[in-house]
This record gives sequence, structure tokens and C-alpha cells, in this order.
Amino acid sequence: MRFLKPVRQCPHCHQDWTPQQADDFPAYVSILITGHLMAPVIIALVRDTQLPLGALVAIVLPLAIILMIALLQPAKGAIIAVQWWFGMHGFTRERQEAVDNDP
Ligand SMILES: [Zn+2]
Repeated sequence: MRFLKPVRQCPHCHQDWTPQQADDFPAYVSILITGHLMAPVIIALVRDTQLPLGALVAIVLPLAIILMIALLQPAKGAIIAVQWWFGMHGFTRERQEAVDNDP
């Protein structure tokens, strides 16, 4: 799936991105964030409006789906960035000197 496929190599600095192992963690992250963003919206809609159930579903469901899809790419990017930062899964930890200089 092109939408979620990370580039194999950065065209600028030639960083190799193939060691990344984000797996399905980005989906969990985007669902978690979507839930936290949607909860106050759903509570406000139910508490402050007299919308029928069908109207609530028609508002909440597309909004949740759009949010989840919109958050997938940044979530995957962030997870790959964390793996790179900490030198996980074959990424080379590039800030070793900062750790060594720690008192
Ligand atoms: Zn780069």
C-alpha cells in the first residue's frame, strides 16, 4: 500500500529506512489519539444537542474515520523516527557521542 509505504532511502541524506519495523503500531496510535480527540466531541454532541441517533452516527463515524486515516501517516513517521533515534532494529544510533559525554 503506497499510502503507508516508507521510502527505502532519503533522497537528500541517503539515510537507509529499510530497517524500520513500525508494523501495526501506527494504527494503535492513531486509534488512541482519535479516541481522545473524539470523546469530548461525542460527549458535547450528546449532552448539548437533541440530535437523533442516526444524525449522531452520521457526524461521528465519518469524522472518526477521517481522523484515523489522517493520523496514520504522521503516526507511522513518528514511530519510525523513534526507532531511528534509539537505534532500534538495525538503525545506527548516530548520537552516541552525546551519551558518552554525559557526566
Ligand atoms: Zn534525509
